[in-house]
Amino acid sequence: MPDAGVRIGLDAVSRSYGTGVARLTALKECNLVIGAGDLLAIVGPSGSGKSTLLQLIGLLDQPSEGRILFDGQDIAGFDDGARTRMRLHEIGFVFQRFHLLMGVTALENVAIPMEAAGISAAVRHSRASELLDRVGLGDRLLAMPAQLSGGQRQRVAIARALANGARLILADEPTGALHSEDKAGVIALLQELHSEGRTVVVVTHDEGVAAICTRRLEIRDGMVTEVSPPTGELRPAVSIGLPGMERK
Ligand code: ADP
Ligand code: MG
Repeated sequence: MPDAGVRIGLDAVSRSYGTGVARLTALKECNLVIGAGDLLAIVGPSGSGKSTLLQLIGLLDQPSEGRILFDGQDIAGFDDGARTRMRLHEIGFVFQRFHLLMGVTALENVAIPMEAAGISAAVRHSRASELLDRVGLGDRLLAMPAQLSGGQRQRVAIARALANGARLILADEPTGALHSEDKAGVIALLQELHSEGRTVVVVTHDEGVAAICTRRLEIRDGMVTEVSPPTGELRPAVSIGLPGMERK
């Protein structure tokens, strides 16, 4: 279990692509504090800068201007090795199209980040099977991704995101490629991860996802505004619960 979610600060962060007349500023002077344990929705039209912001928070990209703080530490001071370690141990990514390795089983997909972290084969297989059990796939450990539904694939991807105990979960349209009947399981899992104290940031067009979030940011043309309830009356985290997802 994570100690507590990662706390993130953005201080006048901009990200521009290209040069000269082709220069485009995808994120404009963003000031933002994401608290440890926030469940934050990022909404906005296509091309507004949502993925750009998520990639910056996920240490997959670096700002053109401004500072990003991770638990109070300026990430500009991290070398490539430190960034890679942070991504491996602290951050779990979930993508719209799952990004599973199609040639290996669900179990191996979840075990792979643990291999990169130097964990023995026996431990990674037992931990991967526990994680898959937790997301309701304990009976599909040896299934290949092609044998799983979209919702099941996304649950494998969530188990993989948890493989090294991530304290920060970043999800980019995690229900965007799912049928409506598969969405509820993924939404319930995101809420579970939040209720355990992890920081969860989710880019979404899905009102069902945004509705469980405790905060909501909207991006338009690279400008970020908070649209959380101004009263501070936040929705309590309710565990919806899924079979096979009892907390350990
Ligand atoms: P969203 O996720 O909200 O759809 P993005 O963050 O992907 O938006 O993109 C924001 C803007 O930045 C868009 O105009 C997009 O075309 C541009 N953009 C994103 N990534 C790159 C890149 N690597 N190079 C050039 N332009 C990019
Ligand atoms: Mg995007």
